[in-house]
Amino acid sequence: MAHNIEVELTSNKKKKPVTEQLEFGKYFTDHMFIMDYDGEQGWHQPRIIPYQPLLLDPAAKVFHYGQTVFEGLKAYRTPDGRTVLFRPQKNFQRLNLSNDRLSIPAVDEEFALEALKQLLVIDQDWIPEEQGTSLYIRPFVIATQPSLGASTSTHYQFIIIMSPVGSYYAEGIHPVKIHVESDYVRAVRGGVGMAKTAGNYAASLRAQDTAAASGYAQVLWLDGVHRKYIEEVGSMNVFFKINGTVVTPALNGSILDGVTRNSILQLVRSWNIPCEERQISIDELYEAHKNGTLEEAWGTGTAAVISPVGELNWNNERLVIHGGQTGELSSKLYNTLTGIQRGELKDEFGWLV
Ligand code: PMP
Repeated sequence: MAHNIEVELTSNKKKKPVTEQLEFGKYFTDHMFIMDYDGEQGWHQPRIIPYQPLLLDPAAKVFHYGQTVFEGLKAYRTPDGRTVLFRPQKNFQRLNLSNDRLSIPAVDEEFALEALKQLLVIDQDWIPEEQGTSLYIRPFVIATQPSLGASTSTHYQFIIIMSPVGSYYAEGIHPVKIHVESDYVRAVRGGVGMAKTAGNYAASLRAQDTAAASGYAQVLWLDGVHRKYIEEVGSMNVFFKINGTVVTPALNGSILDGVTRNSILQLVRSWNIPCEERQISIDELYEAHKNGTLEEAWGTGTAAVISPVGELNWNNERLVIHGGQTGELSSKLYNTLTGIQRGELKDEFGWLV
């Protein structure tokens, strides 16, 4: 795609929040990237403009039928002053997988990355520098055709906004309590669970709120058919260490192919730790806990990187994992991955851009 990106700079720069004020996704940088799609021109008129509200027709299909996808990735400032992205190509690949599932036209992945780089250059002084902070990047596509027909939209917008975020763990990495969800399901094979689309998140809120009201940080999702195989934890992929082997649910069509998940698998394999991607049932976990071989559990995702699980609540039984403390492997993975992301450890896999 040989489009030039038009740039309109703001004449009214916002006051930047100080590190202590940073909350996930609360503040946004001065500019945003946007381009339009229609059937005749394809994706066109890419532009960087001052961050501003969108003007959308109330009948825009995204509001009614949820034809929309999004991504989430981070830019970091390294100690030697570089700005780096962590495996951004994977996010744009996944954006197109999601687009395909939602019948949204593909975006040019290389061009999208180029647009993001230009936006980052313009808003580079929004990348926070303190340890643990980063700039969260949210690319997304919305169906904008004003029509209440429940059919594929003819018009779209692709937008990138960016938000400085603080450390996920203000007081150091710590384990969370998780409720094993047996009423609601997140996704089923053949549905949209492997896509990053709004409906998956809307559908998870009821379970999330109910679990939160009982003091749980997240829910552990089981599969929608047998109601027994582990899928994900909250909006993260999930890993277990059972008797020395790292186990994570295989990608089965209802699980999101997480960039962090993929990176953790590569790290674990490079350390010669046995590692399996397979079905794993809640009964197997229960047995492993009973016989003392459930050694660690953790979630993985861009926001927290690693989120150790200290306790699972299943059928009113509390399964405490690793004494409710962060396990050694969870810690090592967290330190290694965040070290690579901050440019402090050698990027041996070539993950930084
Ligand atoms: N599962 C779901 C449902 C998610 O929303 C996310 C966050 N993108 C993940 C897993 C983790 O993916 P990633 O490591 O790419 O952030």
